[in-house]
Amino acid sequence: MATATSNGRHIVVVGGGIIGCSTAYHLLTAGAKKVTLLEAGKAGKATTGAGAGFVSHWSAGMIPLGEEGAKLQQYGLDFYRMLHELGTEIGYRPNGTLIMALTEQGRDDFVMPVLNSPHAPKEMQDLNAAQIGEKMGGLVDPARVHSGAYNPHGIQVDTTLSLGVILKEIDRLGGEVREDTRVLSIKDEGGKVTLETSNGPIEADGVVVAAGAWNNEILAGLGWKLPMLRVVATRVVTDNRGLPSTLPTIQCRELRLWLRETFGAVMWGTGSHYTPLHRMQQSEIEPGQPHNDGLMQSMVDEQMERLQTVFPPLQGSKVSSWAQGIPCYTPDVGLFVGPVPGSENVVVVGGDNESGVTHGPGLGRLATEIVLDTERFVDPTRFRVDRYQRDAFASEAEIEDSMPAWSARHGARRFASAAE
Ligand SMILES: Cc1cc2nc3c(=O)[nH]c(=O)nc-3n(C[C@H](O)[C@H](O)[C@H](O)COP(=O)(O)OP(=O)(O)OC[C@H]3O[C@@H](n4cnc5c(N)ncnc54)[C@H](O)[C@@H]3O)c2cc1C
Repeated sequence: MATATSNGRHIVVVGGGIIGCSTAYHLLTAGAKKVTLLEAGKAGKATTGAGAGFVSHWSAGMIPLGEEGAKLQQYGLDFYRMLHELGTEIGYRPNGTLIMALTEQGRDDFVMPVLNSPHAPKEMQDLNAAQIGEKMGGLVDPARVHSGAYNPHGIQVDTTLSLGVILKEIDRLGGEVREDTRVLSIKDEGGKVTLETSNGPIEADGVVVAAGAWNNEILAGLGWKLPMLRVVATRVVTDNRGLPSTLPTIQCRELRLWLRETFGAVMWGTGSHYTPLHRMQQSEIEPGQPHNDGLMQSMVDEQMERLQTVFPPLQGSKVSSWAQGIPCYTPDVGLFVGPVPGSENVVVVGGDNESGVTHGPGLGRLATEIVLDTERFVDPTRFRVDRYQRDAFASEAEIEDSMPAWSARHGARRFASAAE
């Protein structure tokens, strides 16, 4: 198997989102002497810049990633605490995560699997409506909710601020970040890898491709394809509602909602308006963020009335900013990290399933260990790239059809309905 066994060799990372930046950081801390990160636009300005910054133990009843996922999640929690302790503001709030139900049925479907998960930390708490009301300091109307699973270890971060600190660390450790440098193709010639870029060719001994929603564009030239469903996800931030910075993040699958406080305002998004790119008029997009204001506006128009009943501070609120990104879902809701079949000196990492802020630090470390061929801190077998054949799915529509709904009992589709 792979790869660049000597730390003295040149490793190139493609993509300056959380996963690529984390990879460059870990390569440098692992002792790699020459690390170059190539970013088509500006680092952190694509999907990562739109991320909501929830980090928690999702293997506990939320994302089926098992023990290996739980280790990556714990690593992510530890990594952001370490970044916070460097002293620059990253919006780090160790306030916990609440998985909230509105009804008894919601509790059975979404809260009990969290409470009963073998991956739930022992400090996980079962809160009733009154306890939720108290903990959420006016953000939630307790008369409208049923109960919830509260993980006190969950945190929130600001993705843009976090990435700024990681980039500073990459610089301090001697790495080079080249922005406005798009990788056009990669050729793995055994001993050497040649990257054609918009600023000329670069040679490397090993390459890590971490180009998020653009991974398959790059892999196509290497004859490989990951089964990724690219989805446009929207977040909005209200005007300042005077909320304290001590509130836990909330997820409510009956509302298909995630919501948090950010610098006094409310940040939220709903899965019911997440829309697969292949269903949109413009089904390809240049590296960066989409800007579909119709999608954002329909989310606000269709959800706000209902949300205001559960979250009173939303009453009378305005949208002060919004952003969209393109997380990539996979048929098994798994992650990918490993050598590209047939191109041993190229490792790809992605398939983030909208959890790359959480898993990015651990994935970056794993990608580093694979490309440097050092001991893996987590067994990467379940994340291997060849668990699907390159032609396992003919289209993203086929991937979407193969994906489980949020709740078999409710038959709820994972994303916006085809008619939307
Ligand atoms: C609304 C929203 C909310 C979210 N909330 C959370 C959350 O609470 N918690 C969580 O864990 N995750 C969350 N996520 C998911 C998380 O943001 C993503 O999983 C993560 O940002 C993906 O990181 P990435 O590095 O793979 O992708 P990106 O950030 O997109 O980085 C890929 C980079 O590669 C560059 N690139 C592309 N092609 C090339 C090329 N040819 N050459 C060079 N560079 C190239 C792009 O410009 C881009 O900067 C959320 C996402 C969204 C959109």
